Amino acid sequence: MKHVLHLECLICQRRYQPDELAYVCPEHGNEGILEVAYDYDRIAATLSREEMQACRDRTIRRYRALLPVRPDSPFPPAAVGGTPIYPLPDLRRRLGLEHVWVKDEGLQPTGSLKDRASAVAAVKAREAGADVLTTASTGNAAAALAGICAGTGQPCVIFVPETAPAAKLAQLLAYGATVLLVKGTYDEAFDLCLRASAEYGWYNRSTGFNPYMSEGKKTAAFEICEQLDWRAPDALLVSVGDGCIIGGLFKGMRDLKALGWTDRLPRLIGVQAEGSNFLAAAWETGEDVLTKSPIAARTVADSICVGLPRDRLKALAAVRQSGGAFVTVSDEQILAAIPSLARAAGVFAEPAGAAAFAGLLEARERKLVDPEERIVVLNTGNGLKDIPGVMESVRRMGDEGQPVEPDFERARDVLESLAAGPERLRRSPL
Ligand SMILES: *Cc1c(COP(=O)(O)O)cnc(C)c1O
Ligand SMILES: [Zn+2]
Repeated sequence: MKHVLHLECLICQRRYQPDELAYVCPEHGNEGILEVAYDYDRIAATLSREEMQACRDRTIRRYRALLPVRPDSPFPPAAVGGTPIYPLPDLRRRLGLEHVWVKDEGLQPTGSLKDRASAVAAVKAREAGADVLTTASTGNAAAALAGICAGTGQPCVIFVPETAPAAKLAQLLAYGATVLLVKGTYDEAFDLCLRASAEYGWYNRSTGFNPYMSEGKKTAAFEICEQLDWRAPDALLVSVGDGCIIGGLFKGMRDLKALGWTDRLPRLIGVQAEGSNFLAAAWETGEDVLTKSPIAARTVADSICVGLPRDRLKALAAVRQSGGAFVTVSDEQILAAIPSLARAAGVFAEPAGAAAFAGLLEARERKLVDPEERIVVLNTGNGLKDIPGVMESVRRMGDEGQPVEPDFERARDVLESLAAGPERLRRSPL
């Protein structure tokens, strides 16, 4: 891996060679999160933006030269990456925002952005000579690891809270993972997984511990810039639980700028649920996130329900260094955003994905984004992941469908009672 210079501890800035250690800075234990540093001159000498553009492979394999993997390591067969980005022209009229796009990570092979990281984990486990992979997860990271490993034939052991949405558990079981249903929180599952991986020598994919997961997730930032003709957006909004995605997006944006492929960094706007606001609160008060106590997290958006964000250093650095912000949104706002986003863009999001869109409305309200700015919202997970959550969101709008007998005369009565002209049938998104 000549293109990787070193791994650097985010606390003490000590540098390590990638083969010197597996996960964290030994001086700082589990808090000693490492960041991967690249030799950008070397990369730029072998790869140009135009060559990247010409690459026909739309999956994250196209970014191999910018990922912390050996040149000859095979990638898993799953088609990870290459998700679409859609403009939201309606927001001009409704919010006065001229240029908003939503990138739909719900269309990944297992339905969430986590596939980007799990694909890298599968590669790194092989490189490390580990036969078994493990992760703790609120659900999506686990589903991603289980799905990717089903494709590569690597066994995996999953620690999830037993309260994870049924669809995510169903994915794990169908993909054939060994599933431990933890009678406790995600944070407790995380600690169990750490102990088990140390005990059995399993390769640990857990977020904010494994330094390579934000590297996988950064590929979403690469795609965004390429899809916007290499003009980085002014602002990028994403929901935040552990903080790995937002940290990864910022890393991806910095990689492209260091290569000279883009000329600016977007402001990163992290969206947290009011009931799971560890980072938003620390950002506001300036409290040290290394000593701040965990909170008792509670939100409908299970994927961002985190008491102690494991990648809090990367997340805070992303927001601070990019001149961004954190905003919080209530569960009501999150649920309302599911049909809003679905109607505005045809993007079907789980609560944590829709939270980013709720965050845009909040950011607009608080004047954190300007009308003429180019803004990207990331939907991180598919609405099929949490049908009870989605049903609750439409129920709150009073939309439960119209029961009708299988008889046209009766159906006509129902339709006429709805006064079914095009204007009535077109549902307002916001
Ligand atoms: C994991 C996840 C998030 C949050 O990502 P972090 O890296 O934990 O901040 C947001 N939305 C969805 C759908 C997720 O699966
Ligand atoms: Zn350190």
